[in-house]
Formats: sequence, C-alpha cells, structure tokens
Amino acid sequence: MDKIILNKMDPKFKDDIVSQPGAEFFTRCFTCGTCTAACPVAEVHDEYDPRKIIRMAILGMRKEVLSSDVLWMCSRCYTCYALCPQNVKFTDVISILRDMAIKEGYIPKERLDQARELDKKLQSIRCKIIDNKLHPNQENQENVKKSIEDELNEKW
Ligand code: SF4
Ligand code: SF4
Repeated sequence: MDKIILNKMDPKFKDDIVSQPGAEFFTRCFTCGTCTAACPVAEVHDEYDPRKIIRMAILGMRKEVLSSDVLWMCSRCYTCYALCPQNVKFTDVISILRDMAIKEGYIPKERLDQARELDKKLQSIRCKIIDNKLHPNQENQENVKKSIEDELNEKW
C-alpha cells in the first residue's frame, strides 16, 4: 500500500466538496462501512469502496480521488444514500466528484455524458437479460449479445 504523505494533502479539498449542494453532510462520515457492505458494485469489484473514497477525500487526497477510475464505477443506485446513518448522500457526492474531475482537467469533459449513456445501456442490457431468463428466446439472446459487443467496441 502507498504511504500517505500528509504535507502533500490538500486540506481545501473537503471544503470544496462540502460547498456543493448535496454534499453538505459529507464530512459527517464516521466510516461505519454500511455503504460499502451494501454496495452492489463493491460486491463485485475489489477496488471499489465508497467508504474509502470518502476517507481519501476528507484527508485531502484530491489528485488520487479525482484521477481514479473508480469514480466511474458507481452505478448510482442510491442504496448507500438510503442506508447511511449520517446522511452523507454518497450518490450526490460521487456526482460532485465526477464534475470536479472534469472541471479540474483530470479527465475529458465528454466522459460525463458517456458515463450517463453507458449506465442507460447497461440497465437496458440488464432488463434484456432478465427478460431472456424469464422468457428464453433465441432472438432476445442474440440482441443481448449484440448490445454487449457494441458496447465493448465503444471507445471512452
Ligand atoms: S454509510 Fe455513511 S457514515 Fe457509514 S461509511 Fe458510508 S458514508 Fe460513512
Ligand atoms: S450509489 Fe454507487 S456507491 Fe452507492 S451503493 Fe449504489 S453503486 Fe454503490
């Protein structure tokens, strides 16, 4: 694990986040881990951990947080939002972090629209798979395969 060098931290980072509508209670996080335990993305991706993202942001790890690929893994399902005992509203916080990553030049500005579009397509694929499980049919299965292939060939 990389060392955390405190004098390289940006103490203003948390204030910049808190000043955004939706993130007012973000520093109330007391690292209980409820969000991570309930998160469907954390369940399948070892590096995705909402509690850790909040901790890093509170510590002032601006560059590490805003340049991280994990910012784009959240499916914005609102599970953590509903369960958080401190009303941290992580789903809003992650949107704010994505906006900041774009505004501060860590990633291209097209990424936000691409991420929204990708989430929509993934939900559509998910519905098609469920439909196919409930009503197996060759045509539906081919559609699912094609949607997945098309998405894999899309560039970010
Ligand atoms: S559930 Fe809320 S308080 Fe608990 S770790 Fe997650 S954000 Fe922090
Ligand atoms: S909104 Fe994002 S971080 Fe929260 S539970 Fe859903 S996928 Fe996980």
